[in-house]
Amino acid sequence: MPRGVVAERDQQAWLSLVAKGVRAAKEHLARPDWNFRGDPRIYFYFADAQFICHAPPGNIVYIPLWRMREGQAPWMHETMHILLASRRGEWFAETEAVQSARMPLWLHEGLAESLAIDIDDRAGLPHYSPLIQVPASGIDTLCRERLDTGSAAQALAFVGSRGKPPELFTEERMKVAPAFYVASTSFVRNLQRRYGPSVLLQAIEHHDDENEYLERTIGMPLKVAKEAWLDDIGYRGPR
Ligand SMILES: [Zn+2]
Repeated sequence: MPRGVVAERDQQAWLSLVAKGVRAAKEHLARPDWNFRGDPRIYFYFADAQFICHAPPGNIVYIPLWRMREGQAPWMHETMHILLASRRGEWFAETEAVQSARMPLWLHEGLAESLAIDIDDRAGLPHYSPLIQVPASGIDTLCRERLDTGSAAQALAFVGSRGKPPELFTEERMKVAPAFYVASTSFVRNLQRRYGPSVLLQAIEHHDDENEYLERTIGMPLKVAKEAWLDDIGYRGPR
């Protein structure tokens, strides 16, 4: 973080919070030995600027400073992207065109969020998501409500399939991101309930074969599992 702008006491508090979270996360994922090129640490960069939180391949998480100050930092979600990186390949090292065509963003975002919720809950840490501001028990309802408000087709097309909504990292982001993130999380949690959490963890490790691995393991096309999920959450709109 920039020198001198955060009180020593706050720095220490943030450090112990994040360190506790990272320990809990490694334990939950059964990856106690996780490291990036031999370094077991994750570096959190709190920049005094306005941008979307992100964690590129490697071991650095970027979060706007004000989000930490306000208790609105999805640092556990970003930690998940770091810890869940497949050892077989890295989507964010690919070109934008390849990501847009092939990356199953729904699984990466849905699983990162879902695990962040569970780990924060287990470790007694506060959970914050900019796009999903309800407790875990309210996610399915929030999902149905957002799908009902009109962005369903754009968001749903990319849930359970490859690719990402083209608007997601443009000025149009807020037209589709709220529905896409909550739907991805709701679908992942539905799959976790039906088939257990390890199937999703194994799927994300199967770089460029994530969806297909899931389908082979659960024994049905994701299209069918997706219909079952939408029935479960009571969504009756266009699919
Ligand atoms: Zn994310």
